[in-house]
Amino acid sequence: MARARVIVMNSALGPLDYRVPHGMTVEPGAIVVAPLGPRQLLGVVWEPERLATEEVGDNRLRNLIGVVDAPPIPAPLRRLIEWTADYYLAPLAAVLRMALSSTSALEGGKTIVEYRATGEVPPRMTAQREQALERIGDRQGLIRELATIADVSDAVIRGLVKAGALEGRAVDLDSPFPEPDPDHAPPVLSTEQAYAAGILQAATATAEFEPFLLDGVTGSGKTEVYLEGVAEALREGRQALILLPEIALTEPFLKRFHARFGVEPVAWHSGLRQAQRRRAWRQIAAGQAKVVVGARSALFLPYRDLGIIVVDEAHETSFKQEDGVHYHARDVAVMRGHFEGCPVVLASATPAIETRHQVELGRYRELKLPGRYGKAELPAIEAIDLLADPPERGRWIAPKLVGAIDATLARGEQVLLFLNRRGYAPLTLCRTCGHRFQCPNCTAWMVEHRLIRRLACHHCGHVIPTPRACPECDAEDSLVACGPGVERIADEATALFPDAKVAIVTSDTIWSPAKAAEFVARMEAQAIDIVVGTQLVTKGYHFPNLTLVGVIDADLGLEGGDLRAAERTFQQIMQVAGRAGRGEKPGTVLVQTHAPGARVIEALVSGDAESFYAAETEARRDADAPPFGRFAAIVVSSEDKDAAHDTARTIARAAPRVENMDVFGPAPAPLAMLRGRHRFRLLVHATRQIDVQDVIRDWLGALEWPAKVRVAVDVDPYNFL
Ligand SMILES: [Zn+2]
Ligand SMILES: [Zn+2]
Repeated sequence: MARARVIVMNSALGPLDYRVPHGMTVEPGAIVVAPLGPRQLLGVVWEPERLATEEVGDNRLRNLIGVVDAPPIPAPLRRLIEWTADYYLAPLAAVLRMALSSTSALEGGKTIVEYRATGEVPPRMTAQREQALERIGDRQGLIRELATIADVSDAVIRGLVKAGALEGRAVDLDSPFPEPDPDHAPPVLSTEQAYAAGILQAATATAEFEPFLLDGVTGSGKTEVYLEGVAEALREGRQALILLPEIALTEPFLKRFHARFGVEPVAWHSGLRQAQRRRAWRQIAAGQAKVVVGARSALFLPYRDLGIIVVDEAHETSFKQEDGVHYHARDVAVMRGHFEGCPVVLASATPAIETRHQVELGRYRELKLPGRYGKAELPAIEAIDLLADPPERGRWIAPKLVGAIDATLARGEQVLLFLNRRGYAPLTLCRTCGHRFQCPNCTAWMVEHRLIRRLACHHCGHVIPTPRACPECDAEDSLVACGPGVERIADEATALFPDAKVAIVTSDTIWSPAKAAEFVARMEAQAIDIVVGTQLVTKGYHFPNLTLVGVIDADLGLEGGDLRAAERTFQQIMQVAGRAGRGEKPGTVLVQTHAPGARVIEALVSGDAESFYAAETEARRDADAPPFGRFAAIVVSSEDKDAAHDTARTIARAAPRVENMDVFGPAPAPLAMLRGRHRFRLLVHATRQIDVQDVIRDWLGALEWPAKVRVAVDVDPYNFL
């Protein structure tokens, strides 16, 4: 009798065996429909010898229901799924779900009906209909998608279809993508670029696993170099994957790609419509979608034949997923290259200490690009000591920076003011009674967003209208904003320079690729003089007329005891500094700080990255911190605080005694309450020789806890107390 071992899409279950009915054939990787109780679940057939499960007699097996009409999950991806589940202590089904990330890709039928405006005005116009038509504009989508865009009910959209204001169009779901041409517009490379590109091309041609660190300051031309590796993969008829940290930033990248290869790459991110997701998924699985540019979730797609993987801005911490499967896309990308047999390029101007360490160990090969490409020079970085040269009372921009902005604007050049804090003010309090606005669901202050007159929690999304009176003491007009966010800095810039055109760039204002494109166009047309932005503006952009960068608060990232705080501050300020002087005009960077003597600030000013990294690395070595030692966090959460605390203590009491391993806690997690759940955390610290995953698997595997308690393990965590 034919049996199949199947991972069903239910994280609570291990692999299950099924009978393969007569007339059905399944191979490992096949996506199948399997019965589970009264329900039907998707699952993937696996090699039985790779997954242990309880032996079930033939007579107790249930029949598989069907095989899905989609390409099977390829073997290298199956190996990656196993590795990811094993390393990050996650259920196989949870990792597999990331590979089957388009359910509509697995459904039959090749066309769907999408709707778009006809331009006709409905005979009966209501406020809702008007709002819907205005917001939909010339967009096209499913009824549900249009309703979401327009913020109206499905019924309103259906009414508009009936009234003739929207019309249906059959969309071919599986039309192929235009293919990039590797010889469309090859770039003129510098000697150093050509050397690095040649090595990547050779590595791609041999189709063997090899990790690279492509290291060069911002503006040194890393993108041109790795795109030559991509071109080589195309010539070999293979696929390429480029991971980027912030999807809103792909617009300038897509343009560059288009200029090099004649077409846009296939994009993969959370903003795709269902039909787009399905098309991308199926064409990727078929090997037809040649180059995919995406957020970290693109890593688990079923590429048929990957020829190269690039992780751009590889030092970015946003590659670490903080919920569900806690994976780090940079590290998983290297493993994917290992299983696929292809080179992996980590590109960065400020490589993570972990990555540098791999280079030192000889595991990664470093390709270094010196200097900036063309005439552009690296900007000079200067510190402004906020104690010696403070801003006026109630202001945040120091006189020296004000003077520099003035001079820059007078030359007709552009300014970027950087503060990594959205909204107007991070804290609002009542001047009469001292009441502070805290989120009811999280241990976090409500952040004032003055543009939309709301207080918002940045962790759970809880939003309230900004009240006029204090909810505690009823005092009117008694609320004061404490500290600056970008909106407040923009107000200050406008007050200082009333003639300057000021723009705010955060995820609140740039929430789609179209918005990003609009921002780029306005910058290029000189319709903006001063940009006030968060880290969203620090990556990928290239504005030749932007010559002054002001960092409002360099100390912000140094707060808290995070082991990577100094490194992250260094990376972030180097990155934002890289926005200045990218054309022929030289740039200046002014960094406001209360601690001009801090090692990281001194390194930024002196430009001595090497000694900064050396000192940070030594400090990590002394503390047995990554990459020399290992951490894992066990986060216990529940809506019931006592239940969470009890479970956390039970886990702590059961901690195994292992030499060279310590367990700390439980302590309230950095966010003691998040989205209504109370959180406690244990921190495991061990030397590299210890298989932390194995220890934790045995330790937690022997314990039980109430169903209302969730226990999550974060291997190699990035959020610390
Ligand atoms: Zn009050
Ligand atoms: Zn909240």
